[in-house]
Amino acid sequence: FTLLGLESSADDTCAAVVTSEGRILSNVVVKQNQELAIYGGIHPYAAIQRHQQNMPGAIRQALDDAGLDMSSIDGIAYTRGPGIGGCLSVCSTAAKTLGATLNKPIFGVHHMQAHALTPLIPTLYAAHRTFTSAADAEQPQTPPQFPFLALLISGGHTLLLLARSPDEFTTLATTPDISIGNAFDHVARYLGLAPGERGYGAALEAFAAGAPASFTHGVDADVHDADEPDADAAVPDFAVPLRGQLAFSYGGPRSRVEIFVRERGGVERVPEATRRALARAFQAAAVRQLEEKTVLALRHCEGLGVRVQDVVVSGGVASNSYLRQRLRAGLNEAFPGTALNLVYPPPHLCTDNAVMVAWAGMHRFAAGDFDTYDASIRPKWRIDEYTGKALARLH
Ligand code: ATP
Ligand code: FE
Repeated sequence: FTLLGLESSADDTCAAVVTSEGRILSNVVVKQNQELAIYGGIHPYAAIQRHQQNMPGAIRQALDDAGLDMSSIDGIAYTRGPGIGGCLSVCSTAAKTLGATLNKPIFGVHHMQAHALTPLIPTLYAAHRTFTSAADAEQPQTPPQFPFLALLISGGHTLLLLARSPDEFTTLATTPDISIGNAFDHVARYLGLAPGERGYGAALEAFAAGAPASFTHGVDADVHDADEPDADAAVPDFAVPLRGQLAFSYGGPRSRVEIFVRERGGVERVPEATRRALARAFQAAAVRQLEEKTVLALRHCEGLGVRVQDVVVSGGVASNSYLRQRLRAGLNEAFPGTALNLVYPPPHLCTDNAVMVAWAGMHRFAAGDFDTYDASIRPKWRIDEYTGKALARLH
């Protein structure tokens, strides 16, 4: 069977058609103009307007690309939460209206569940391989098995979850602070980077890796380069916050960059070599924190007698290739001799998309677990509450 997936929880308007075998028949992502992002976040009113403009066309395109009509689609999955209320209303109303009109079942899925289940799409593996990007060559051959650990790192979340089944998740670590993706976005802005097509996070990664960068107005490419011969020594040291605790914090590292730039009299006064050193140091520290907390979470599961052999890393920040290399090396160092299966979706399925939403609805279709057409959106929705079942707490 075939599901239409709809996603509009943040700033991308997405529609996709996926089969029960995991074949991706279409994947439409309409990115919003990066200029809509103010203060490193999303302007809710502008985002809602864009979703309203773009959703009907995205659905039409997804059906056309799949070569299907709505009548041959078996059901509609949409993001019910968490996210910006007005944004969620767009995909929710579209899904419910299509469902009620055409008498099709609907599935309101949890956005982070969808990020976590993406690597279970069978066509991402071996003989089914449909992706040919360079990063795809790093994809492992085997999909993750429950129970697995999910490290979800995105624009709104920094989470370590124990996934016991497609809809049973326990939060092992989260943050009271800003998310890792948000910290990447802010730091890129403090460094004067222009977001480009792939956004601030990807711009920061490329800048740290030495790629030529474009800057926002007023920031030169090579201010006083000779003034700072040892740029790496000039930038602050980033310690891992909350050492030994199952919790994340990215507000501190972000502020350290902000303060450094301010003390230098603004980004236009900081030599480019120093800006790059700062980007590298921030990114390395951000990833070191992920590494350390992931190791802690795996030890925590071990202590509880839960055998975890697979680690899923998903969400927009998981498309960062420095992180992919570092995390592999870090886990090998921490658990020598054990073959942990570290699994990432291909980069274009790490950032928001509706393929993951359709896929998350798939097991519910099989189980006949439909939502009613009056289901309300859930802007705030803890993933532990997803099933409504009383799950055994782990800590
Ligand atoms: P959430 O999933 O928490 O609701 P979201 O859906 O807005 O948030 P995603 O689309 O999953 O977030 O991820 C977007 C985030 O990923 C942004 O903060 C962006 O800067 C970050 N990001 C994308 N690519 C990279 C990269 N290469 N390196 C670092 N960060 C990145
Ligand atoms: Fe997301």
